[in-house]
Amino acid sequence: MLLRNLPILSLTLLLMHCNNHPDTSAHSHDRPINDMNNEIKHHKYYSRTDTSKVTIPDSVWATLLSDDLYAVAREAATERAFTGKYWDYEGNGTYYCAACGNALFRSESKFASGCGWPSFFESIRPAAVVYKADNSYNMIRTEVLCGRCDAHLGHIFDDGPPPTGKRFCMNSISLEFEPLP
Ligand code: FE
Repeated sequence: MLLRNLPILSLTLLLMHCNNHPDTSAHSHDRPINDMNNEIKHHKYYSRTDTSKVTIPDSVWATLLSDDLYAVAREAATERAFTGKYWDYEGNGTYYCAACGNALFRSESKFASGCGWPSFFESIRPAAVVYKADNSYNMIRTEVLCGRCDAHLGHIFDDGPPPTGKRFCMNSISLEFEPLP
């Protein structure tokens, strides 16, 4: 009986969250992602100027990233809506990849989407991010990864504002903000 009702229960849990960006803590990650406990280490692969690819195994990433950033960056977990430090942040500056330091977004492209995650209408340069089809959770979505280290950042949707009409729906924990001097 319980097993027969599981799909309905799972679907209900999914719909309780933003339907575009399910909280994977209900799935492969059974603990909430805590962005506030994320200590960003500027390790030897971290660079804000070197754009060459970083290809290191997850076993090494596990030694470089906080547990919560690892869960998002390398296992595609999602922080809960309205819990990250940047969803309603309005500072002027640049957002870098929290895993490798790659420049990702300018604050000028950030907008108030109301969805609970930091949202941008364009990346800082086309190659800053890469895209990958994501058909998990019975949804057809496009995953956004860091163009340098392939860290999972979030997803992109077609309901953003002009001029691009895109919404880069990102995890706060995947980002590191640097204010303009
Ligand atoms: Fe990166």
